[in-house]
Amino acid sequence: MRQAFKRLERVLELETNQGYKDKAVIGGIRQFATFWVGQARDEAVDEAELALIEQIAESLTEYSRLPGPEARKATLVNIMARIRALPTPVPVVEKVLEKPVIKPAKLPEPKETVTPQAKGAPTEVSVVEPDPEGLLQPVTILRGVGKKTANQLSKLGAENIGQLLRIYPLRYDDYTLMKPINRVENGETVTIIGTVWETQSRRTRNVQLIQSTISDGTGTIQSTWFNQPWLVNNLKAGMQIVLSGKVGQYLGRLVLENPEWEPLQLEPLKTRRIVPIYPLTKGLAGHKMRETMKRAANQWAPRVPDHLPDELRMNLKLYPLALALQQIHFPETQEALHQARKRVIFDELFLLQLGMLTYRNKWQSTPGIPIPVDSIALTRFIEGLPFELTRAQQRIIADLATDMAKKIPMNRLLQGDVGSGKTVIAAAAVVLTVSAGLQAALMAPTEILAVQHYRSLNKMLEFMNIEPQLLTGSTPSAEKERIYADLASGSAKLVIGTHALIQENVRFKELGLAIVDEQHRFGVDQRKSLRDKGPISTKESRASNPHLLVMSATPIPRTLSLSLYGDLDISILDEMPPGRRLITTRWLRPSERERAYSFVRTQIEKGRQAYIICPLVAESEKTVAKAAIEEYERLKAHIFPDLKLDLLHGRMSSSEKEAVMRSFKDGDTQILIATSVIEVGIDVPNATIMLIEGAERFGLAQLHQFRGRVGRGEHQSYCLLLAGDVSADAEERLTALEQTNDGFLLAERDLELRGPGEFFGRRQSGLPELNLASLLDMEMLVLARTEAQRLMASDPKLKKEQHKLLRQQIERFWEQGGDIS
Ligand code: ADP
Ligand code: MG
Repeated sequence: MRQAFKRLERVLELETNQGYKDKAVIGGIRQFATFWVGQARDEAVDEAELALIEQIAESLTEYSRLPGPEARKATLVNIMARIRALPTPVPVVEKVLEKPVIKPAKLPEPKETVTPQAKGAPTEVSVVEPDPEGLLQPVTILRGVGKKTANQLSKLGAENIGQLLRIYPLRYDDYTLMKPINRVENGETVTIIGTVWETQSRRTRNVQLIQSTISDGTGTIQSTWFNQPWLVNNLKAGMQIVLSGKVGQYLGRLVLENPEWEPLQLEPLKTRRIVPIYPLTKGLAGHKMRETMKRAANQWAPRVPDHLPDELRMNLKLYPLALALQQIHFPETQEALHQARKRVIFDELFLLQLGMLTYRNKWQSTPGIPIPVDSIALTRFIEGLPFELTRAQQRIIADLATDMAKKIPMNRLLQGDVGSGKTVIAAAAVVLTVSAGLQAALMAPTEILAVQHYRSLNKMLEFMNIEPQLLTGSTPSAEKERIYADLASGSAKLVIGTHALIQENVRFKELGLAIVDEQHRFGVDQRKSLRDKGPISTKESRASNPHLLVMSATPIPRTLSLSLYGDLDISILDEMPPGRRLITTRWLRPSERERAYSFVRTQIEKGRQAYIICPLVAESEKTVAKAAIEEYERLKAHIFPDLKLDLLHGRMSSSEKEAVMRSFKDGDTQILIATSVIEVGIDVPNATIMLIEGAERFGLAQLHQFRGRVGRGEHQSYCLLLAGDVSADAEERLTALEQTNDGFLLAERDLELRGPGEFFGRRQSGLPELNLASLLDMEMLVLARTEAQRLMASDPKLKKEQHKLLRQQIERFWEQGGDIS
């Protein structure tokens, strides 16, 4: 739907949910209407729509003056109904569309000539790498694939035949949905074949409308496209074409809206009724790709060996791999397509899970040091805290105690939204470890956070006589040397720090527990390095691994956590400490900046403190810092000259940052202007308002993290998002933030918006590239997990002959993966 209407719908929905209090947007519906009408006019496609927009704007302007909820409700219901009655939405233009093919269809190909390589004869390639099936041969061995096409295919990630077969269609056009024009109905998606009668171009306010009349002997139908002026020349009268798209209604008549189209080529229609649509790259036309794939699928798919053991495959009623690969490219029926996808998705998830379990086995084959539960110490610690633990905190501490008492090293992920109180749980684990005479280490991603942890653990553990050491990049070298010595001798029991902890020089006498906070901010290797600081093998004892606790405030949707952390046990801290209030979040336009400032001021007048976050301006931290400095100067000179402002950015030295944080924490600074360095973990309960400039430039997870800096105390807190013209995606993000405080819900949303690869960042997660969005398929995931567990139980090292291919496949799949815990 057009952006303006979509946005309006959201606001009205929110207003409805809130009971017609005129509170859905700051400034009220009336003010919203004034900017909305501008945007809506710009997007209008014709006069009728313009008229509708003016009417809606008028009702919205009156809204706040209406006598009561009933009248307001009636108005909104009416507006919503009218929006929904608009002709169906214009499809998004960025969608990967197949290039219209303008060349006439080719004559049928002569029968395929089989090259010697294709017969599986030994080739030079196969000398380098064992490749009995010939799947590692370059794509150029396919007929019709020359250098040029090979280049294009390599842009899509296919150098060899095997890779080519794994480029799956993005979607399929189903010609089985074909209908004669006189049977087409409003709202359905159809494919029709017809002759172009005429094509016209019409300019309305700001779009160019192309209208074609198509006839098939049973009737005629209009087809419309927006802003594709070249179609006037492409869709010539008399031409036979295939169109597929959604049927809508316009001024009482049926129309095909922005359908995909192709000149009629009998070939795919005659032989295949479901036509694959592939990802394309510049210069590679859809029909060429299809033709190439067809050769590859016919000739090579049957040679792909099946790595699934027969028994397992038959038990699960999965297609053999060769069949699945053939059918996923050129499905004969919808059912065959479904089965083919099922097999391919299962494979990906199964390999993923097997990989996880392999790691888990590897990790657990080195023993841990059992830490007996010292309940006296633990109780003393808990009773000395200034607050009662929540039930969730108690439960998780009990989980940790149980894990750590075992000989197998703990490998646990603690997930809890910002402010849910993870630190105290980490402290409890430290108490248990130190009581057993072992050492503990806590690693945080930034210096600010390490210092904060150092302070709060110092306070929490003081009466337990545990004195933490702080080790960061800026620790003076003499102090560093002392800490190294104390860790090596065992006299230092707890060290808290940044990456400095994983330096070569850091050696522990006996590290029993390693904790990684905000674990997603660390690379795979860094986590592993910390874990490797456990006791090495000596004459007297074997090497052992410390128990590992990784913590994350980035909630991960359940499907993803099963996939990504299949080798970890997961604890979810799903209860906030009592007394927390929901943070009120509002998205404001730049024109409302003054109001935002005065709102900040009212909070300061009540004795509270504020954060103002500067936008990301460019990649380099220098520019960000510069922008922050300028913003700080501006605010100080013109907006808040009477208040105490301070500035925090990444280019400052750690001692400068430290001083700034200290003064903010002590309440000496009233407004802290900061770049995204503030993102992680800062805890200042008196700060109740956060203003985020350029909010559209940040990701959803990051915005949620920022917001978590407020709402940490007893006072109502606010988050104001300033953003002007935003993309559809950014709009989704900002609206989602306005609507919920729940990190898990936001994570699900984020995952939907960005897809799993982006969501996690492949590099960090060590996750192999997945071809299908299979990570979201919960049912298959559970199945794959169960089967992987069963298989690993029967053959932990996959040594059996029937598992050989599978083992190779896992290695290939995980080639660029790595330890992901
Ligand atoms: P996060 O999970 O984001 O790391 P913290 O551990 O920093 O959260 O805790 C946030 C704040 O909540 C801290 O000020 C902490 O002292 C406080 N807190 C933690 N647990 C409780 C509790 N059970 N009751 C009250 N306050 C708590
Ligand atoms: Mg924390």
